[in-house]
Amino acid sequence: MRKSFAASLIAALGLVASAALANPPRDGRQRARRVVPDDGTSVSIGRATRGRLRNPALMPQTAVLRYRSGDERFRYGTDEMIAALEEAAKHVEEELPGSALTVGDISRERGGRFRPHRSHRAGRDVDIAFYMHDADENAAYPDRFVRFNRRGKSRRSSLDLTFDDARNWKLVESLLTSDQVIVQYAFVSRALKRRLLAEGRRQGASEELLERADVVLKQPRRGGRHDDHFHVRVYCDPADAPVCIDRAPFHDWHPRAIEEARVMARLDVLHR
Ligand SMILES: [Zn+2]
Repeated sequence: MRKSFAASLIAALGLVASAALANPPRDGRQRARRVVPDDGTSVSIGRATRGRLRNPALMPQTAVLRYRSGDERFRYGTDEMIAALEEAAKHVEEELPGSALTVGDISRERGGRFRPHRSHRAGRDVDIAFYMHDADENAAYPDRFVRFNRRGKSRRSSLDLTFDDARNWKLVESLLTSDQVIVQYAFVSRALKRRLLAEGRRQGASEELLERADVVLKQPRRGGRHDDHFHVRVYCDPADAPVCIDRAPFHDWHPRAIEEARVMARLDVLHR
């Protein structure tokens, strides 16, 4: 018995050690000196608010994926970010034909400072226009973001546009169930979040997905209400982990949170 206790203690300590290694050191510079071998794939380096980007992917324009404006200089992201956007655009179109996803700024080709944004520096932030339609239910694609009120109507009444609950929920659903990325935040106004959760429920989304959406959809405390676009931030890709820096929180379904929970449960058993 004693031996098996010792064995499990060692196993638990091993888990603690690996969890500690997974924790980024406080000093960002120390971490940035580590390297990821260059295999040609994208690397998000540093923090979303201070980082940069290596071997980025350029978001393509397709029948279902478009830029808000024609400027390609600001549509670089990690491979996973771009793949997730392509996937989401396809998903919404398959579920609700006649859809095209409109994307605003992602990052510059090498990342780094990107005015007027605070973040968008490491290929892991993207601004996404809402799906919307006009009075005749035709999809509308204005060149600018459009602000919507709690009734889902464009604030500027001259526009007479409606927030497309069904398509916007499908977009959220795709991003939150993506194999490519794990979404940390999708900033959006409180009123529109309420509409999205109600729509998800109406479409029969699972409780698990609705709970995740409730955590991830968020009106930021500062940096604008986000009633005219989603700002989506994704966590570092595991392959970029040595140089990519995430900030808390780590949602319950993030591998790091799962690992920590496993260690805590193990220690709890040993303490009994
Ligand atoms: Zn943004």
